[in-house]
This record gives sequence, structure tokens and C-alpha cells, in this order.
Amino acid sequence: MSIRTGEQYIQGLKSRQPEVWLGGERVTDLVNHPVFKQPIKEMARLFDMQHDPKYQADIIHICEETGKRVNNGFLIPRNAEDLEARRRLFEVWAEATYGLMGRTPDFLNVVVTSMATNDWFFRQYGERYGDNIINYYRYIRDNDLFLTHAIVNPQNDRSKASHEQEVEYAHLGVCKETEDGLIVRGAKMLATLAPITDEVIIYSYPSFKPGDEKFAISFALPIDAPGLRIYCREETQSGTRSTWDHPLASRFEEMDALLVFDDVFVPWERVFINQNVEAGNLLYPKTGINLQPSHQSAVRGLCKLSFVTDVACSLADSIGVDGYLNVQNLLSELIQAVETIRALVRTAEREYSITDQGEALPNIVPLETIRGLLPKMYPRAIEVLQTIGAGGLLMSPTGADFARPEISDDMNKYYAGRSGVSSEKRVRLFKLAWDLCGEAFGQRLVQYERYYSGDPVRKMGMFYNVHKRNNLSYPLVERVLEESLLLSEEHQEQTKQLHS
Ligand SMILES: Cc1cc2nc3c(=O)[nH]c(=O)nc-3n(C[C@H](O)[C@H](O)[C@H](O)COP(=O)(O)OP(=O)(O)OC[C@H]3O[C@@H](n4cnc5c(N)ncnc54)[C@H](O)[C@@H]3O)c2cc1C
Repeated sequence: MSIRTGEQYIQGLKSRQPEVWLGGERVTDLVNHPVFKQPIKEMARLFDMQHDPKYQADIIHICEETGKRVNNGFLIPRNAEDLEARRRLFEVWAEATYGLMGRTPDFLNVVVTSMATNDWFFRQYGERYGDNIINYYRYIRDNDLFLTHAIVNPQNDRSKASHEQEVEYAHLGVCKETEDGLIVRGAKMLATLAPITDEVIIYSYPSFKPGDEKFAISFALPIDAPGLRIYCREETQSGTRSTWDHPLASRFEEMDALLVFDDVFVPWERVFINQNVEAGNLLYPKTGINLQPSHQSAVRGLCKLSFVTDVACSLADSIGVDGYLNVQNLLSELIQAVETIRALVRTAEREYSITDQGEALPNIVPLETIRGLLPKMYPRAIEVLQTIGAGGLLMSPTGADFARPEISDDMNKYYAGRSGVSSEKRVRLFKLAWDLCGEAFGQRLVQYERYYSGDPVRKMGMFYNVHKRNNLSYPLVERVLEESLLLSEEHQEQTKQLHS
């Protein structure tokens, strides 16, 4: 197989029975479950786009190794054109979901591709781990699989290392090693979209301490591996609300989950890091696995910010408040935020570097700058939406009200916007905004931008530390100090001469 269709993706989901728990119920028919049905359709649409001539040139390529058509997420970037090809995929899929689904398949395709490109890293700790990651990359590429990932430990006691937690296997670790593989036990979070994926990959942020050996692991498994339980958070939409009233929440619920591994068997060929604190901590800094998905996240984040900005501008225009200076200031702030992110994405792509493995890496500085800015810009954009929408966000009737003939005069009269904007248009626009800035669905979208790739506070700290390492001195500061010293000496000499 090479690229899958939406129907093939859905058939794949139907062929498995992962242990999914939602609201105290075991979900047995995912594809027809009200909470998952529409998000599955949205995901299937992305797979179908791979077969649509309108998008194909932008999102797939011919694999050098197999001669088959594969998704651009599996392209090993060697130059600027490859990075651009990847960006086109990120853009096309982000636009299809308005940037609201962060973990579309391209995200982890790119992670695994980057891991396989850096097989040397895994090989250092055992030849077979290098082979395993390459074979796994080929497997998911050639079967066009959809992955989730869980890289953070559950929030038990953050002041203690994994091996110091009260419950021995609160964090996911190896409890037994056998001839055939590992037996793993414990929990990992926060696997977005886990119920509707094909596979899960486990790795971690660098956080291991001596003593954490058994927790320092990386592996991949089918999502229905025996003993793997998926605990979903409460849904932000029931799946029964109308798309008229909730144009976004009714479609793009990206379920998040805690994964519990109850003595799950991992065959050796699926193990990439085995109980090795050094490897666990160096995976991020020594390979591009942070950078390549940051490129995807930046392009997707740009699409989301740009979408919210467009909603804010449309909202302001619809009630005629965009002529006021204060509202113009708010909207311009959002437009400039979008342009800042766009410029940073382009800079990251243009100023790429080539690693010893021949992998083209986008420039980390602009990408990390985006990572620092978006968690502030996105919540601000939501605040602007709330500020401009004001009371109107809370007085919208429903589609059912518009359908009742006996109140249609009131509906048409009192909910109209500025001249030329009908009641229905204005109300639907405000409902679109409310999904983003009022609903639990929208609050999760804010939380996602803050945390999807780690704690922004520690990321900013790391950013400064790297900056300091790369700038042992600041030449312009040194030069101006030297110049001022020279000038001051000259000045003193002149003063002395004047008085002699
Ligand atoms: C909507 C959403 C989707 C996500 N999707 C995924 C996913 O698909 N896969 C995945 O693996 N992860 C996912 N994540 C998880 C994400 O990686 C984590 O939320 C993120 O790494 C922060 O970790 P945490 O939530 O455990 O917060 P914590 O690390 O527990 O932090 C909690 C608070 O304490 C502070 N704090 C904690 N420790 C320290 C410290 N050592 N020094 C200073 N301050 C500290 C933090 O600044 C923060 O304010 C998702 C998160 C969200 C919100």
C-alpha cells in the first residue's frame, strides 16, 4: 500500500478494538460513536485529499526507495525545495481543519522521519535500535499510518523524579525484560487523538535523573495492543449539537487521553531506546526531532491565528465597529501578529542548515521564537474576539429559533448587523466566534497553544540559555565600551592640554 484513502483509514479503525474509555463507558464502536464520528470524518477527508488531483502536487511525492506515492511528511528534507514541499503539506492540511487540529498525521510522520534520518543516534546504544527505527519508519510510511504520541509523565508529584514517585510505576517504565521484548507498566500523557489513530509512539522530553533508568524508554505499538487502556478527558461536545449552532466544536473535537500500560508487551523490533537515561535525555538535543515537528506546528499555528484574526475582522465589520480607532488598534495587533509569525516561518525555511546526515533543518531560532510568541499571541487573539464581540456573544439564539415561522420577524429584525448584514449571517458569525472564545472547545484550543510542545516557561529559559551559549560576548557592546574609553582618554588629554 502507499497513500490511503479516507475509507481505508476508517476500515483500519473498524478492524481494531482499542480499549477506549469515555465518561465511564467503554467505547466499542468508535466510528459510529457521536463524539468520535465527525472528527473521524474530518481525518478521513485529509486522507482523501491525498488522492485529489487538486491537492496531490502539494501533499504527496514519489518515494525514492519504493517508487510509490507517499505523504510529504515522510520526505527526508535535503534542501530548500524539500522544506517547501513539506510546508505545502502542512499548509494544505492545516487549512482543511482551520489550524484547529494540531495532531493531524503529518505531525508524527515528520517526527518518525526525523528519528529514522538520525538512526545513528539510536545505533550508538545498540545496532538493533538503529535498525528498528528505520524499519518502523518504512512500515508507517508504506502503510500510511496515523500515530499519536505520549511524551509526558502524569502530573503526580512534579517535584520528584520518576523513580521517587510514591507508586513505583506511576510513570511508564519497564517492569520485565524477556527474550522477545519488554513488558511495560504505568501511565503516560497526553495522547491527543489516541482513540482514532493506528499506532502510538512513546518517547520523552529530556527529564531523566540517575535512578530513572527503567523509565528512559522509547517504543511504538499498535493502538489496540493488549493491556493498553485509553482514558479520554470529558468531551467538549456531545456530537449531537448542530453544526449551525457550533460550526467548529461540532466538527473538530481533538480528543486528549491518558494512556495506561497494564503490563504491555513490546517486541524488540519496536524498541528504540531501552532503559538508558543518557539516550532518553539526548534524543531531543542531538537529533532534529524537536525541529521538524516545530516547522509543522508553526505553519499550523499560523493558519489558526490567521483564521481567528479573520473571524475577529469579520465580526467587527458585521456590527460596524471596525471604524473605531480602539477596535482598529486591536485588529491591527492581530494582523501584525499573523505577519510576524509568517515572516518567522519563512526565515526558518530560508535559513536552513544541512546536518552531517544530509538532513535539511529549518533554523531553530525563528521556530523557537514562534514557540515563545504563539502562547501569548493566541490567547490575546481570543481576548480580542471576546472584547469586540462583547454582549453579542451571549445573546445569540439558535438555528431552531430561526426555523420557527411565528418568531421569524423578530429574528430578522433584532439580530441584524450593520446595513447589508442579515440576522442569520450575523448570528452565525457570532456563533463561530463563540466556539473559539467561549465554549470549552475553544478553551482547549487556548490550552493547546500554551502547552502542546512543552512548558512555555521552561522553553523560554532554555531559549535564553542557548542564546547565551552561542553569544559568549556581545561584540557591539564591547566595541562601544572600548570606543567610549578611548574617547574619554582623548577628552581627558584635551582637557589637560587646555589647562597646561
Ligand atoms: C491540549 C493539549 C494537547 C496536548 N497533546 C499532547 C500530545 O499529543 N502528546 C503529548 O505527549 N503531550 C501532549 N500535551 C502535553 C504537553 O506536552 C504538556 O502539557 C506540556 O509538556 C506541559 O507539561 P504538563 O502539562 O505536565 O505541565 P507541568 O510540567 O506539570 O507544569 C505545570 C506547571 O508547573 C510549572 N512547572 C512544572 N515543573 C517545573 C519545573 N521543573 N520548573 C519550573 N516550572 C515548572 C510549569 O511552568 C507549569 O506552570 C498536550 C497538552 C495540551 C494542553
